[in-house]
Amino acid sequence: MKKSINDALNKQINAEIYSAYLYLAMGAYFDGLGLDGFASWMKVQYEEEMFHAMKFYGFVYERGGTVTMEAIEKPGADFKSVLHVFEETLEHEKHVTSLINGLYDLAVKEKDYAFQSLLNWFIDEQVEEEDSAQKIIDKIKLAGEKGPGVYMLDQELGTRVFTPPAKGEA
Ligand code: MG
Repeated sequence: MKKSINDALNKQINAEIYSAYLYLAMGAYFDGLGLDGFASWMKVQYEEEMFHAMKFYGFVYERGGTVTMEAIEKPGADFKSVLHVFEETLEHEKHVTSLINGLYDLAVKEKDYAFQSLLNWFIDEQVEEEDSAQKIIDKIKLAGEKGPGVYMLDQELGTRVFTPPAKGEA
């Protein structure tokens, strides 16, 4: 594996673990509000991000590279409301999409076809990530942030479970 690609992968592993850490911070915010379902959704999101990190990690060793750990940035904790948290989630996922697109540009530039193939999975995943955050934002706006609406959404989001995709599946 080329050094440029190995370095970029290590940065992305760090970014995915940061994402996990950010969603755990959001989960803690919801736990503090007694919104168990929202908290549980964020903890599933945390697991998904760790899965992303480990998918990149596995690829590095499959291709003869080396994983190195850097410090994980402290996530912001200035969460203002239920809606605000999901707006931050959407913004963060758009940022991650731009990182994945940047990796794809690198994979094309370096003519690394295996890396491009791996990234196709992540490109599809980012479409889902942005879509699911946007859908929750829409629902919060419809249901309202207080009273029965938010209670109902809390019940709904609490049903989400983490299921790691089978190899080769999105
Ligand atoms: Mg991710």
